[in-house]
Amino acid sequence: MADRPVLLVTGGSRGIGAATCRMAAAAGYDIAVNYVRDAAAAEALVAEVRQMGVDAEAFQADVSKDADITALFEKIDARFGRLTHFVCNAGMTGRVGRLDDADPAMLRQVVDLNVTGAMLTLQAAVKRMSTRHGGKGGSIVILSSVAARLGSGNDFVWYAASKGAMDSLTVGLAREVAAEGIRVNAVSPGMIDTEIHASAGDPERAGRAVKVIPAQRVGAAEEVAAAILYLLSDSASYVMGGNLDVSGGR
Ligand code: NAP
Repeated sequence: MADRPVLLVTGGSRGIGAATCRMAAAAGYDIAVNYVRDAAAAEALVAEVRQMGVDAEAFQADVSKDADITALFEKIDARFGRLTHFVCNAGMTGRVGRLDDADPAMLRQVVDLNVTGAMLTLQAAVKRMSTRHGGKGGSIVILSSVAARLGSGNDFVWYAASKGAMDSLTVGLAREVAAEGIRVNAVSPGMIDTEIHASAGDPERAGRAVKVIPAQRVGAAEEVAAAILYLLSDSASYVMGGNLDVSGGR
């Protein structure tokens, strides 16, 4: 195993996660790319980042499921050794709509992935990084959203609430593990051009939002990835419990 930092990105096969993997490879991280459905996209990304001279592997796991999370981290231990960096990125909105029309099963699915899945993957990452568990420390970035403070009424209040949970988790976990060598921070993207909007059943959503964005445009996944890379890096050595908006001023 090489003496390079080892980064796991959950939901790394497309969107913000894939942009983060590419930028991290360029910065010299070995990369574990997690995905749930799109093996072809994950494998293509792995081939692309290996060309940059780092090691990479794709790992299928549904990070809303306990057993998948356990297996994911054990496979990474075996393949790369101790994890040093983690981007807690996998997330979903569920279908756009009002709370009083929403399918209860969908609400549970969003919470299972965005909240419980985040907590369980963060738990597994801390067990690998913390000096309390024999680790060497590390850095974690959690994907929140400006939705946490905007509330996303008539879109997906359940998603906004799940990201509010990420804001609390970031502050609390950062304080819990700061003395164990781990920095925990969040980024809160605004409207970013990825497939998440089409998955919500409203592919035009990002374009429509331009009029309420001070920057007058949607953001690119690479603009979020740049903020994530900063927070992962030693340049952010005294940034703990921070939450960086990448939202075009919104
Ligand atoms: P995206 O384009 O929809 O990509 C989602 C990624 O998550 C894919 O790699 C997908 O894998 C993976 N994924 C989905 N469900 C999963 C599961 N159960 N287990 C493991 N992986 C799973 O999303 P994105 O827009 O890049 O968003 C990334 C993060 O940023 C999310 O947490 C999101 O809430 C947050 N965010 C996004 C925006 C935005 O405007 N885009 C704004 C604020 C915050 P497959 O390819 O295999 O399906």
